[in-house]
Amino acid sequence: MHLVAIGGSDAGISAALRARELDPSVDVTVVVADSFPNFSICGIPYYFSREVNPWQSLAHRTHADLEATGMQLRLDTLATGIDVVARQLTVRDQYGAASTIAYDELMVGTGALPSTAGIAGLDQLGPADGVHLLHSMGDTFALERYLDEQHAETAIIVGAGYVGLEMAEALTVRGLHVTQLQRGAEVLSTLDPELGSLVHDELTRNGVDVITGTRVERVSRENGQLTVAGMHDGQPFAQTADVVLVVIGVRPNTSLLTEAGASTGAGGAVAVDEHMHTGLPHVWAAGDGVVTHHRLLGVTYLPLGTTAHKQGRVAGENAVGGNARFAGSLGTQVVKVFDLVAARTGLRDHEATAAGYTPHSGTVIADDHKAYYPGAKPLSIRITGDTDSGVLLGAQLVGARGAEIAKRVDTYAAALHHSMTVDAMSDLDLSYTPPLGSPWDAVQIATQAWSRGVRSFQLR
Ligand SMILES: Cc1cc2nc3c(=O)[nH]c(=O)nc-3n(C[C@H](O)[C@H](O)[C@H](O)COP(=O)(O)OP(=O)(O)OC[C@H]3O[C@@H](n4cnc5c(N)ncnc54)[C@H](O)[C@@H]3O)c2cc1C
Repeated sequence: MHLVAIGGSDAGISAALRARELDPSVDVTVVVADSFPNFSICGIPYYFSREVNPWQSLAHRTHADLEATGMQLRLDTLATGIDVVARQLTVRDQYGAASTIAYDELMVGTGALPSTAGIAGLDQLGPADGVHLLHSMGDTFALERYLDEQHAETAIIVGAGYVGLEMAEALTVRGLHVTQLQRGAEVLSTLDPELGSLVHDELTRNGVDVITGTRVERVSRENGQLTVAGMHDGQPFAQTADVVLVVIGVRPNTSLLTEAGASTGAGGAVAVDEHMHTGLPHVWAAGDGVVTHHRLLGVTYLPLGTTAHKQGRVAGENAVGGNARFAGSLGTQVVKVFDLVAARTGLRDHEATAAGYTPHSGTVIADDHKAYYPGAKPLSIRITGDTDSGVLLGAQLVGARGAEIAKRVDTYAAALHHSMTVDAMSDLDLSYTPPLGSPWDAVQIATQAWSRGVRSFQLR
């Protein structure tokens, strides 16, 4: 049996590793458009901040590690077409030579492409002009070269999602003055604004100029000067900088599969079932190019590295005859912004309402550990639960780095995965010692406050 995986990032490599792990007799070939298989693109901001150096350290596994698992890597090779009937892949190598690869099973992990969301000028301006996108090692080297060679001192980051925030920190740490432009009313729009504002304050405290309510319409370059222009709170807006980084999300990279006959679903991503099957015979797909099964929302599009790993593993297992099922995402995510950490899992109020729940959300501030032990830090925790059934629907957390925000959001994620009620969170046997927690952990202080809030609301 010959399994061919397209894509050398989280989904493609996870599928290839799982297939070889389950059945070492399977021949596995991974076709990768560039020369950087299994690089952690999630770590790119820390290369720019110089916390991770050299860039080779970003590899989850080296080329040799991967080959030691028995997989064959076809690097700098672009998959250009799938012949589903003949079970054949057409590829083009770095010299432009076309050839075909026969497969028994195919797993497509071509991921996503950075969105440019209709901003005029981005089709004409590129890295050599100081206008950058950020999704691959190639993008990373281009931005690094520009920063170095042009001695850039000022940057505009378009977008304040988690990649934009991580890059605001990285470029600031590196000595650039950063202006961050955000279309919405608050940064990190995956959180409710009252928590997003804490992240905003952390950016400001560290010297980032944050301008919210700004719709960027075009980027231009005249006389060596880059200008970002648009509307800010209904008024024309323009600002100049030495370098512009556009990080406003991604769109699924689907053309290879749609041209082969696959259909698309949520977010324009390729439709797959929970077994990661595309509906095309012997063709599986996983990662940022495909829809995401969500445990609370059904089918959605929520591209994340953790999800790509899990989906790839399922696809790899099923491609070699297994019957694995992707259990579904909860959209759990976490980001570090300077000395603050923000996280969420599950649904916020408006998402829960749209999904047919009757949600209530409440925020508390609780210490990460007993206040009498030095260094206690306040955490803001916002719980969303269903007032009809009492089930937990989501949690958002913001607090200091070192206050275990990531692991606390994971407690909520585990509870959500098992459909726990908010009240039942008090039954969890969570750990306690004064320097690290409280007899009722902050996780439970927040859920108990939610229950009190709902009861008083219902008594009114
Ligand atoms: C800066 C940054 C930080 C991030 N941080 C986080 C984080 O902290 N946590 C998190 O969960 N997620 C994070 N993400 C998102 C995460 O990186 C992605 O969800 C994940 O990489 C998706 O993996 P993938 O395998 O689906 O696709 P991609 O990573 O997009 O990779 C696609 C692969 O397919 C190859 N390819 C594409 N087309 C072809 C073709 N035609 N032929 C051959 N090869 C092809 C590409 O070369 C690449 O190897 C971050 C993303 C970025 C950009």
